[in-house]
Amino acid sequence: MERSITIIGAGISGLSAGCYGRMNGYHTQIFEMHNIPGGLCTSWKRSGYTIDSCLHWLVGSAPGNGFYRLWEEVGAVQRRRMINHEEFVRIEGEGNKVFIVYTDIDHLERHMKALAPEDKDLIETFTKALHRFTRMSMPVGKAPELYGPIDGLKMMVKMLPFLGLFKRWGRTSIKDFAHRFKNPFLREAFALTFDMPDFPMMALMMTLAWMHNKSAGYPIGGSLPFARAIEQRYLDLGGEVQYSSLVSKILVENDRAVGVRLADGTEHKSDIIISAADGHTTIFDMLEGNYVNDKIRGYYENLPVFPPLLYIGLGVARSFDDLPQTVSGIDFPLASPITIDGKQRKHLAVQVYNFDPDLAPPGKTVLRVMLESDYERWKRLQEDPDLYKAEKEQVADQVIAGLEQRFPGISSQVEMCDVATPMTWARYTGNWKGSFEGWLITTKTMGMRMSKTLPGLFNFYMVGQWVEPGGGVPTALMSGRNVIQVICKKDRKTFVTATP
Ligand SMILES: Cc1cc2nc3c(=O)[nH]c(=O)nc-3n(C[C@H](O)[C@H](O)[C@H](O)COP(=O)(O)OP(=O)(O)OC[C@H]3O[C@@H](n4cnc5c(N)ncnc54)[C@H](O)[C@@H]3O)c2cc1C
Repeated sequence: MERSITIIGAGISGLSAGCYGRMNGYHTQIFEMHNIPGGLCTSWKRSGYTIDSCLHWLVGSAPGNGFYRLWEEVGAVQRRRMINHEEFVRIEGEGNKVFIVYTDIDHLERHMKALAPEDKDLIETFTKALHRFTRMSMPVGKAPELYGPIDGLKMMVKMLPFLGLFKRWGRTSIKDFAHRFKNPFLREAFALTFDMPDFPMMALMMTLAWMHNKSAGYPIGGSLPFARAIEQRYLDLGGEVQYSSLVSKILVENDRAVGVRLADGTEHKSDIIISAADGHTTIFDMLEGNYVNDKIRGYYENLPVFPPLLYIGLGVARSFDDLPQTVSGIDFPLASPITIDGKQRKHLAVQVYNFDPDLAPPGKTVLRVMLESDYERWKRLQEDPDLYKAEKEQVADQVIAGLEQRFPGISSQVEMCDVATPMTWARYTGNWKGSFEGWLITTKTMGMRMSKTLPGLFNFYMVGQWVEPGGGVPTALMSGRNVIQVICKKDRKTFVTATP
């Protein structure tokens, strides 16, 4: 008889665990609290427009990158059109100055040197290292949990040429590096390429290297069709999924996970439980904090998370054909600052989806403004529905006023404006503090590994962004794949994969 696995959550990691579980002959059942798959990898429709919440870039979007084969296995990339932008981001300054982060490294180098000839040496150090990152391929086949001494040795040999790069660029933050430019505009603009505290240069550089290699493209149609394709693969493999099914408790007998209890009181037993849901809820609510040690508690007490977001989607009756197409948008200064979340903002970043015709009616475009926000503030606001609604309206008004400064006339062309708050993310995905990608990577946590098991609890695993610092969809995919390798090994089975 097939051994059974219950999976909590149909985000990318849960769907992945489900697909590989089925490929390896396990009976799998996913319980998902939402009524659709995808988790954070999602999109939603408003008044004929589609707001996409996730995939700005998909690592492994093309052959040549190790992740591509994995995406093929879960049926995500076949027949999907990917586009590779020439620009990663545009940072505009006063007096028509603009820093364009081109995805082609040589183009980027020429542009930076033209912008700041006095920084020639630093620019060359940066682009030379970028070229070296393009030659690095991440090992994705075998679960690190199963590495033996030979695997470790092979890995060392493969990674040896890059160790110096990791050491240098993993420990330097973008903000610190930006500070080294003599040119005042470049110094300021470079720091905005990834506007996160203590974010390592290495993360930016790996992203740019993937983009240079054209292996981190954008899938036309956005995130929900992408997640739906993986759901379909899972169903085709014979997997079962039950939506609108919130898991409230993981059932444990003699320190063995034996099943789950749903919010409606029904109980479902299985041989193995995998939580692909939020880490904090899993450990401290579903398991009532019975299986933690100081190390795990320390993560939740001390580690920073990717911040919660205010996510403003706009449907605009304008084509924006005259604007460049970028991976993550245009950042521009505001002559008249705007106030959002009680904070005055002197610049605004907007993503213009003028490259995806699937998201808007012909001649019209979706725009998106994504702002770091304050979870506790929105939690308080939510207690008063009128205040919450009024604050959302104020955010929408301020954002449109800001956009009007860069795109005159836009105010009268906005046909739809949707404001998602940190509470929206928490409600729809259950993620702790409304975080949009789990544990933030910093110069201190870069390369950090976490265990997929909890101390003292058997037949139980965790996958997804709360056990894979840095998050992201490729990591979620790999996390689900790796856990099934571990389970197969324990059950003395050879792990197998298949491509549809
Ligand atoms: C705005 C934004 C932009 C992003 N951009 C990118 C990008 O460009 N590239 C990239 O790679 N990544 C990006 N990410 C990150 C990426 O979306 C996530 O890291 C990844 O999707 C996480 O997948 P997951 O399966 O680990 O978790 P989740 O997506 O959070 O899935 C968890 C699932 O569990 C369900 N669940 C939770 N609690 C319960 C419960 N009690 N019972 C039942 N079900 C439950 C949730 O509803 C959810 O479906 C972005 C995310 C956001 C929000």
